[in-house]
Amino acid sequence: MRLRFDPLRSSIMPTLVVAGVLAASGFVLASETAKVDPRGQLAAPIYWVNRDFGKEFFNTNDRIWYKGVKERKEVALTFDDGPHDDSCIALLDTLKEKGVHASFFVVGKQVDKYPELVARMIDEGHEVGNHTYDHFRLVSPDMTKAKIREQLDRCDEAIIKACGRTTTLFRPPGMRFNRDVIDVLREKDQLLVYWTIGARDFIGTAPEWELTKDMKKEPVPSPADLVERVKKQLKPGAIILLHDNPITTAALGDMIDAIHAEGYQIRLCREMMQELPQNVRVVSNPLAPHISRESR
Ligand SMILES: [Zn+2]
Repeated sequence: MRLRFDPLRSSIMPTLVVAGVLAASGFVLASETAKVDPRGQLAAPIYWVNRDFGKEFFNTNDRIWYKGVKERKEVALTFDDGPHDDSCIALLDTLKEKGVHASFFVVGKQVDKYPELVARMIDEGHEVGNHTYDHFRLVSPDMTKAKIREQLDRCDEAIIKACGRTTTLFRPPGMRFNRDVIDVLREKDQLLVYWTIGARDFIGTAPEWELTKDMKKEPVPSPADLVERVKKQLKPGAIILLHDNPITTAALGDMIDAIHAEGYQIRLCREMMQELPQNVRVVSNPLAPHISRESR
């Protein structure tokens, strides 16, 4: 079991004591990480109740992470659907240049094409999550629980072959999932990562069959559009959904600069989950048993 829920962090008393002390002193939390002044939130008791139970951030039963906490100016950058050769190389180069770590939800069949890029993600301190083998919708009528399990297992195997590590993070294609998906994740000891800010950067690059009628009418965004959309929606605890494609690649440098200019830090999913009321501690990419880097 890689998840650990600390009962001390989820009991209401310590939070109420801290809330009272902070309210009385007007103290602003300070640490190495930029934070939002919590004094406004202290006035609303419901904030502290929600924070304690933390349901809006993390579903403990089904193990779904929705977003990070409100009092830390942190966001996660997540890239779905790769790796795609040139665009992925450019994404990794920009992240390296900016000194930023990100989370990649990779598609198994792409991992089999470009295993060296997944190895590079791990080597450069990024996180790698499972996004199925074929990018099939997991809730389509012909999807049985066995087929869901196969989609996840095959992606895990591709990741292991590429970098000698497995993953505890998963994001379903199109964010479509049902009880069977949750059950399979439980069997596999993986948790589901949601997103809160979408740049809609898949318009123009996603295959036609994945787009709704309305999406097909949307104009293809420019890199500047993507930067603006993300900047407008920035919030503490946001999980930003991007895709491994050329438009996003062209936007990434400016997007990172804009996020930093607004006073936010960019963190990995596992780092943000540690700050949740449930204190979720995850090893994103544990070493796969019996497989060494040399054998890939
Ligand atoms: Zn996807």
